[in-house]
Amino acid sequence: MSTCVPLPDSLPASARVPASRRTRKPRVQPTPDPLPILHKYFDALFHAHGEQHWWPARTPFEVIVGAILVQNTAWTNAERAITNLRAVRLLTAAALEKVSLAKLARLIRPSGYFRQKARKLKAFVHFLRTSYRGSLAAMFRTPTNDLRQQLLRVHGIGPETADSILLYAGNHPVFVVDAYTRRILNRHGLTHGKESYEGVRGLFEQSLPKDAKLFNEYHALIVRTGKHHCQRRVAICSNCALRPLLPRRVEGSR
Ligand code: SF4
Repeated sequence: MSTCVPLPDSLPASARVPASRRTRKPRVQPTPDPLPILHKYFDALFHAHGEQHWWPARTPFEVIVGAILVQNTAWTNAERAITNLRAVRLLTAAALEKVSLAKLARLIRPSGYFRQKARKLKAFVHFLRTSYRGSLAAMFRTPTNDLRQQLLRVHGIGPETADSILLYAGNHPVFVVDAYTRRILNRHGLTHGKESYEGVRGLFEQSLPKDAKLFNEYHALIVRTGKHHCQRRVAICSNCALRPLLPRRVEGSR
């Protein structure tokens, strides 16, 4: 059984230090220059876990559908919705455009926020048809930054979804930032926690070679670490591959 290291927000109220007695010193002192260190994080994770074989999908179009359906939910829920779509042969752009909004929403119900997500899927396939005649190949031939801006203008596609689409469906070298990424960087003192999405993305993209395969593996390894070790309420550091890189001054680390 691994050791759970409770973080401050998981302590019972009785164990917390009254606000009046807390010092103002931050729990973690941000490291001055995180850029060179990010190479070491990848090496440690890859050495421990190897290739993650992401994204779990059969086609690039399925990746895109999955990237929208997984918003604000666990992958298992998105996967159930995708299974429903596959069962009725709706995993093509043309089929998704034809199906009624109500039927689509019903089929993707397991993913949560299903009415909103049905509209988002419709918005994407409309964009694909009107901008690229329905051709994903044509869409992904667009230069990375141009396509990223176009995707960000589609209803329901934010930075994390756009970058997931670019990287995992289109093999464009962009780094995907998610809550796990932010949590790990914060706990290791590499960020303050107030950085913008673009700021965190920039840390990785400026620090690492612009290599889609590297970004693919790195994000997948971060997700694995976030799920199994660096959880929201508890950091299970004892057998985490990143423990050797944990600053000694992080409260609660052992
Ligand atoms: S060692 Fe692992 S679990 Fe602990 S803070 Fe770092 S990433 Fe999170």
